[in-house]
Amino acid sequence: MNKLLRRTSDPSRIPDNAAGGLLHIDLDVLASNWRNLRDHAGGAEAAAVVKANAYGTGIEQAVPALLRAGCRTFFVAHLDEAICTRAVAADAAIYVLNGLLTGTGPTYADFDLRPVLGSSEEIDEWAAFSRSEGRRFKAAVHVDTGMNRLGLTVPEGLALRDRTDLQDFDLALLMSHFVSAEEGGNPLNGQQIEAFQAVRQSLPGIPASLANSSGIYLAQKPHFDLVRPGYALYGGNPTPDRDNPMSPVVGLEGRIVQLRWIEPDQTVGYNGRWTALEQRRVATISVGYADGYPRSASARGNSSETVLAGMALVNGRRCPFAGNISMDLIAVDVTEAADQVQRGDTVTLIGGDLTVDEVGRRAGTIGYEVLTSLGSRYARTYRGGEG
Ligand SMILES: *Cc1c(COP(=O)(O)O)cnc(C)c1O
Repeated sequence: MNKLLRRTSDPSRIPDNAAGGLLHIDLDVLASNWRNLRDHAGGAEAAAVVKANAYGTGIEQAVPALLRAGCRTFFVAHLDEAICTRAVAADAAIYVLNGLLTGTGPTYADFDLRPVLGSSEEIDEWAAFSRSEGRRFKAAVHVDTGMNRLGLTVPEGLALRDRTDLQDFDLALLMSHFVSAEEGGNPLNGQQIEAFQAVRQSLPGIPASLANSSGIYLAQKPHFDLVRPGYALYGGNPTPDRDNPMSPVVGLEGRIVQLRWIEPDQTVGYNGRWTALEQRRVATISVGYADGYPRSASARGNSSETVLAGMALVNGRRCPFAGNISMDLIAVDVTEAADQVQRGDTVTLIGGDLTVDEVGRRAGTIGYEVLTSLGSRYARTYRGGEG
């Protein structure tokens, strides 16, 4: 066996040019986005939502960078993500948004984690667990003000103060979540703020949190005591109707493995969904849907039709995808940049003016899904994040 193969148990030993795609993650920009959000939060504490492996960027790298920026409170979705976060954040407050599953109390206690209790049953169980351990363990309570997904109903929230078992644990945070905070003009925002206010007033002294990334930018400034940005930290635009106040954290490049001329009437890719109407130059890029690039960004039609589909930046020039995205490959019509490309060059799939938001839109989805799908196949390089 050759030396390299013997060493592959340590992925850091695999050279970057051995991978199909190159993912760049800028931890200094992540930290500056966090500071920017904190400065917009009107004095409220800024937490960081690091669920889904910090939106694809890596909990192990993102959390220490956020800690150095001054972040002290983290939110994840699952208990296992919380344990991974604890491994790199010994003293932070860590909340688990998806709540308490029966029998997991000891795990919460072992790692000093806080469930976000989303139903009366979860409150029962957390109070009982705290009593059985003789300790007032911390938790948040989630009140559902419109999502109809997780959380107590508003009437249940208003009745909380009458629950005697509320004294059995430490209610450290009261929270709710916006349905469409990215639509600044949506009347639901105001209704949710009002319902949340009412519950909050019935529980004086309990810190409160409502705003996600977009919520921070709402005209009503619903910052309360703590804000919970996720997407914007990683460069997503929290104000889709306006310029992005954030800077991009993630860049993705793919390598050209072949270049070829396609003759008129020839198709490209599986099922022949894209046809060259005249001779076209097509570059085949070594990134596919198995890398996490959404297949829904496939380009169907022909070389003259404009369809909503993926794009690559080739030497700064926008070049459209051609045909279906395969598991490991994307074909790009580089005719317009034909004299400037050669085999082995890299093209930009996320970066420059090709933002995560646009990549999501071109795939018929949202940038959140693009980020959280970023694959483990990429050679990941991190910039910044030191002391
Ligand atoms: C994911 C999530 C957030 C973060 O939302 P962004 O839109 O990514 O800022 C905040 N709060 C809750 C409850 C969430 O599930």
